[in-house]
Amino acid sequence: MPDLTPDEFRTLGHLFVDAVADARAGIEHQPVRDDVAPGTVRARFAREAAEHPAPLAGFPELVEAVTGDADTRWQHPGFHAFFPANASLTSLLGDLLSGAAGAQGMLWSTSPACTEVEQAITDQLARALGLPEDFTHDGGGGGAIQDSASSAALVALTAALHRAAPDPECGWRVRGVTGRERVYVTSETHSSLAKAARVAGLGGTGLHTVPCSPGTRSMDPAALRAAMRADAEAGCVPVLVCATVGTTSTGASDPVAAIVATAAEHAAWVHVDAAWAGVAALCPEHRWVVDGVAGADSFCTDAHKWLLTAFDASLFWVRDAAALPAALSITPPYLRDAASASGAVVDFRDWQIPLGRRFRALKLWAVLHGQGLSGLRAHLRGHIALAGELADRIRRHDDLELACEPVLSLVCLRASAGDTATTALLERVNADGRVLLSGTEIDGRPVVRVAFGAVGTNREHLEQLWDILTATP
Ligand code: PLP
Repeated sequence: MPDLTPDEFRTLGHLFVDAVADARAGIEHQPVRDDVAPGTVRARFAREAAEHPAPLAGFPELVEAVTGDADTRWQHPGFHAFFPANASLTSLLGDLLSGAAGAQGMLWSTSPACTEVEQAITDQLARALGLPEDFTHDGGGGGAIQDSASSAALVALTAALHRAAPDPECGWRVRGVTGRERVYVTSETHSSLAKAARVAGLGGTGLHTVPCSPGTRSMDPAALRAAMRADAEAGCVPVLVCATVGTTSTGASDPVAAIVATAAEHAAWVHVDAAWAGVAALCPEHRWVVDGVAGADSFCTDAHKWLLTAFDASLFWVRDAAALPAALSITPPYLRDAASASGAVVDFRDWQIPLGRRFRALKLWAVLHGQGLSGLRAHLRGHIALAGELADRIRRHDDLELACEPVLSLVCLRASAGDTATTALLERVNADGRVLLSGTEIDGRPVVRVAFGAVGTNREHLEQLWDILTATP
């Protein structure tokens, strides 16, 4: 048979699991990022695929030989760049079960388990995050796990475009965009919103960049009101406002409640992008993260960033369960189904762009089962405490300064000596190999970002980072 037998799988599976465990156990002794020239890995492959089978027993060693010196180790505890992407071993166990199920959960009937576990888990998480009950499947809305926050933004925009069409029965789906639709963001909004507007066909003029309040990196609600009114008076249709909680660059947040109130004047959709920060609402002391979300139409946070869950697991909730199918459902004969027609089930194909979908909820379930909410809170609080301590040390240090106040587990800093020194600091720290940081800009000036959040990052890694940051060049 063109596959392993279950017994062969059992034997090889143990070898592969050993390889994963060994790699994690030894990760800290490797550099966070290998120094590799472009093309190095590709050059190790033959031009043509192998004609004959080879034993899989040596495959982990082969992968290590071909790729092991050409990696950026996102699971390294010294990885403090971008936003870390947790792939906890707990979630990998769930992912194994998900891959093994091999289910396509596009319709309820194509995998009732896939659909209903996802409904149950997103309802549990909505409650744990303090989202209003109407974001749950029980409460008339619901959550669907998307591959990424970028896809969630596109799905939200698609629903918003449909809702804003003059004939909501078939308007946008039939008519397409007119070029008069407007989406409101700030200069700090993640680029995935601009991409969503582009994919939706809104063109360059479709994206309206609203100024931030003076001295902040948060959307100015008065400027939003003025922009929406001016657009409406000019015959444009305000379709969606994206409010970010925890921007990618600096962790700034937009005033969600004020944005909701302004958007309501034009019946525009409010999407809250809390891709990184949103999971912090699991901790009661950080519930501010969901302030104002009760009035929004959709909310997104990535479990694959900071919630111990391997990519891809972007949690996306809407307040109106009918909004996504209204915009996205297309039913050819080969997808017709009695359960769907009964209206008693959710078909998640209508809550996303692709048709097929895997059983992603299993890895989240494994995380919730294996860690409990208390374990997740401890994980988040540990990193937030490290950021607080790093910020305090920077405040007291003569050669370093905070570029802005820290937010949750994100600290933005500069060298006091100026921009050239800041750029040199980032290069020097990353050249060390034991840690990896990334950069950004505030008001055109370079900034070094420290985003604590990798699974194994603890106090020792703060000490290590501090030694490297403050070492004499
Ligand atoms: N939104 C924000 C605020 C982000 O920080 C990011 C990524 O860092 C994204 C969206 C995009 O996330 P994804 O990779 O899940 O599309």
